[in-house]
Amino acid sequence: MMTPQFWSIPPSDLTPEKLADKAVTLQKRLSEIVERFSDVRFATSLAAEDMVITDAIVKAKANIQFFTLATGRLHQETIDMTKTTEDHYGITIIKAYPEESDVQAFIAKYGMNGFYDGEEPKKACCGARKIKPLNTALLGADAWLTGQRREQSTTRTELNHEELDDARGITKFNPLFDWTESDVWAYIKNENVPIHPLHLKGYPSIGCEPCTRQVKKGEDIRAGRWWWLQSDSKECGLHVNQ
Ligand code: SF4
Repeated sequence: MMTPQFWSIPPSDLTPEKLADKAVTLQKRLSEIVERFSDVRFATSLAAEDMVITDAIVKAKANIQFFTLATGRLHQETIDMTKTTEDHYGITIIKAYPEESDVQAFIAKYGMNGFYDGEEPKKACCGARKIKPLNTALLGADAWLTGQRREQSTTRTELNHEELDDARGITKFNPLFDWTESDVWAYIKNENVPIHPLHLKGYPSIGCEPCTRQVKKGEDIRAGRWWWLQSDSKECGLHVNQ
């Protein structure tokens, strides 16, 4: 039987000069954000894009608070990567946990893995384990950052650097909105940024363990997220203005 070929870290066609320009522009974007807003927070999943932003925040000495959505369903590799990142950069990443009562209510209604049964239970699970904790983690913030890129999926092609997050009434920034996948990996290699171990095992995107799988070579890079749903449902609702 042939071994399936999975996604792997792409080569870069960026010249060192262009990469240096991108890095400088990214740090400028971050510095401008903290000049305009006093309480800025960054939601990291520990995936490649978020590691680039983490590296740039530290290098720009930007006063931005780090947090991660500790959903209770993450891979052990992601939990380990949080500690690796904290140790590497000397930072603290706040863990935003779901409310136990919300998790229990989901399990009582749909079952532990009820999200496999369709869009509605998936939304309910992401609501309890991600969206509500995100809302709590952003209480009091003026602005927040994400690692989203336009190129990542059909739902992100209109992405801009700065947006109004209507759901939370604050500003949202996507400082890598115009970066390609290859740009991200060129930066990671050049700056020796720690790499989430699942990226070395065919996972281009990092999410909850039961809802994320390896992507075959040539497949869409979001194909491993909620693969049992239609392609326009491949978001957890964190980035939807509700
Ligand atoms: S990604 Fe899956 S396990 Fe994680 S919160 Fe959403 S539905 Fe639940």
